Amino acid sequence: MDFLRPLTWADALAAKAERPEALPLQGGTDVMVEINFDVRRPGALLDLNQIRELADWEPVDGRLRVGSGVPYARLIAELGDRLPGLAQASRTVGSPQIRNRGTVGGNLGAASPAGDTHPPLLAGDAVIEAESAARGVRMIPVLDFYLGVKRNALEPDELIRAFWTAPASGPQYFSKIGTRNAMVIAVCSFALALHPAERRVGTGVGSAAPTPRRATAAEEFLSGELDWEGRGPLSVSLSQRFGELVKEAAAPIDDVRGTADYRRHALSVMARRTLTWAWNDYRTGIPAEEAS
Ligand SMILES: Cc1cc2nc3c(=O)[nH]c(=O)nc-3n(C[C@H](O)[C@H](O)[C@H](O)COP(=O)(O)OP(=O)(O)OC[C@H]3O[C@@H](n4cnc5c(N)ncnc54)[C@H](O)[C@@H]3O)c2cc1C
Repeated sequence: MDFLRPLTWADALAAKAERPEALPLQGGTDVMVEINFDVRRPGALLDLNQIRELADWEPVDGRLRVGSGVPYARLIAELGDRLPGLAQASRTVGSPQIRNRGTVGGNLGAASPAGDTHPPLLAGDAVIEAESAARGVRMIPVLDFYLGVKRNALEPDELIRAFWTAPASGPQYFSKIGTRNAMVIAVCSFALALHPAERRVGTGVGSAAPTPRRATAAEEFLSGELDWEGRGPLSVSLSQRFGELVKEAAAPIDDVRGTADYRRHALSVMARRTLTWAWNDYRTGIPAEEAS
């Protein structure tokens, strides 16, 4: 197996163009497991760890551009206040060791339906910046990024350079069901983002369909029904209906981690809970974590 170690982004793109079969390596927390278990034996590994710019993030014109190599630990520490939903999801990934190495870029590259960052990226309308030596930069809305189980929209010669998303303009929450609190793959997960300026709600459903997906009908229903101006209390019927619509958006399967019925039920509960937390924050201006 060849080990390619470009020092610059341009060299990385050139290497990927020349060897499209080369498997990118960022934190290695997916790649090395697959190699160790002989699930994959790529002809070449393309180590991106020497490319410093991938491990940077910056604000650009009111949005955030986060390099694909920023590890979860730094995302939590440095961007937790601006991207609370993604930071909550990041805190549930693996263990401290995994969060020190693993990245959102790698989660996107792996495109597992159970990946924890997908729901908040969907709820926050993220855009993936992909690039190839031949065609330059391609901005891919996250909604178009997931094509199937562990399949994404990258072309063989493309690499993920960064993802773009706006800093939270309202409350955001992430919820995950697992068999324990840490080191666990999601049975299912859900993210909610309120976008008050646009009177809009964003959602993301994880591990309950072949790809991560939004609950579009639930978003449209809730965006139209919330009392954005008056900030009145949530009615039980409103949150129940929202939960039902989120549940209907899922297309889960029975597998070793849980049954389809359980996943649907859990999603409706997580949808109601995250909505209650987010709406209480919006009404009071105090995040639920601080109020408790
Ligand atoms: C013990 C353990 C616990 C885990 N727990 C969780 C968990 O709770 N939640 C969760 O979501 N995941 C979990 N994972 C999986 C993994 O940690 C995450 O998917 C992580 O985000 C992968 O990031 P990475 O940087 O290590 O990616 P890598 O392993 O380096 O790469 C992952 C994939 O992305 C591709 N890739 C990487 N960078 C790029 C790029 N710039 N452009 C194009 N493709 C790229 C790689 O080729 C590979 O296909 C766990 C893994 C382990 C070993």
